[in-house]
Amino acid sequence: MRFLVYSEDIDVELELVSAALKSQGSQVSIALVGDEDPKENSKTLSVAGVSSIFQIQDPALKDFLAEPVTSALEQISLEAKPDFVLIGATKRGKEVAPKLAVRLKLGCITDAQNLRFEDGHATADRVVWGGNATSTVSSKSGAVITIAPKANERAAGSSQPDVRVLNFETKTRSSKVVGKKAKDSAEVDIKNAQAVVSAGRGFKKKEDLILLNDLAGILHAAIGASRPLTSDLGWMPESRQVGLSGSTVKPKLYVAVGISGQIQHLTGMRDSKLIVAINNDKNAPIFQECDYGVVGDLYQVVPALTKALRAKTGR
Ligand SMILES: Cc1cc2nc3c(=O)[nH]c(=O)nc-3n(C[C@H](O)[C@H](O)[C@H](O)COP(=O)(O)OP(=O)(O)OC[C@H]3O[C@@H](n4cnc5c(N)ncnc54)[C@H](O)[C@@H]3O)c2cc1C
Repeated sequence: MRFLVYSEDIDVELELVSAALKSQGSQVSIALVGDEDPKENSKTLSVAGVSSIFQIQDPALKDFLAEPVTSALEQISLEAKPDFVLIGATKRGKEVAPKLAVRLKLGCITDAQNLRFEDGHATADRVVWGGNATSTVSSKSGAVITIAPKANERAAGSSQPDVRVLNFETKTRSSKVVGKKAKDSAEVDIKNAQAVVSAGRGFKKKEDLILLNDLAGILHAAIGASRPLTSDLGWMPESRQVGLSGSTVKPKLYVAVGISGQIQHLTGMRDSKLIVAINNDKNAPIFQECDYGVVGDLYQVVPALTKALRAKTGR
């Protein structure tokens, strides 16, 4: 089976290569699309199992507008002739995937989990109904499939793929960038943090989050949150939200403080290596998912834990 993988994030692209290589006898091509010189990225992506890299570099691809990026991927697909196109389920990837599927007249499976390929079609599980159910879907034949970042290990090793440079043929576009706003510099990239300490609705007031700052400081952890604290209460920016409608994290350590463990939150953190939960309800679902659980009042447990860690680490 022939695969074409694409993400604007090179690490995710490496993860997608791993996903494609799980299928026996797969032939994997990579799409590199943008306005910058792709040489360096091309080197990084020359990992074991990759047979071709298709590059399109063009000023029209600046600013990542879904329309020209889709056109570039369509052009590459016509050359690479993939059975399946795997796209990283980032915000940008989710915008491009269905557009590309329409152009290629293929089905589209978004947020695929537990992906498997058999007899020329793909089958995947998808979390549906706000995380309350899982549906299993199969493509009739080839498909465009999006896969969440961190769902697979990054592919490694080295290869000498055939590098094909294409001229971008579609210059027209109906949308343009009219302004840009810098991200809040205080924003932290929770997706790549080695440790994440997350706050939930167990916190009574925004000011109380200071307790979490101290703990996170000692653990060198990024601070995350459940949805009530971001979207509902606005105590933290949405970039810190972990879960179905937030970020998927896979740190070495995840500490859930005052978080009940609803499926929509678990979806974003359950693949963390070590999960610690602090909750005063011994029946909270989070205790079904954690490696270590502390049943207790966070207002007592967190300061005590912080003090003990400070004494042990001297930080
Ligand atoms: C389509 C959809 C998408 C969603 N996406 C997300 C998402 O991306 N991320 C997300 O997090 N949620 C998401 N949700 C919301 C999700 O369903 C839950 O409502 C949310 O995760 C609950 O957050 P929580 O655990 O902080 O709050 P709660 O469920 O209210 O839990 C608070 C917990 O704190 C404990 N607690 C209370 N006081 C203390 C104390 N003093 N000490 C210790 N523990 C205490 C309680 O026992 C309780 O278990 C989504 C929902 C929908 C429908």
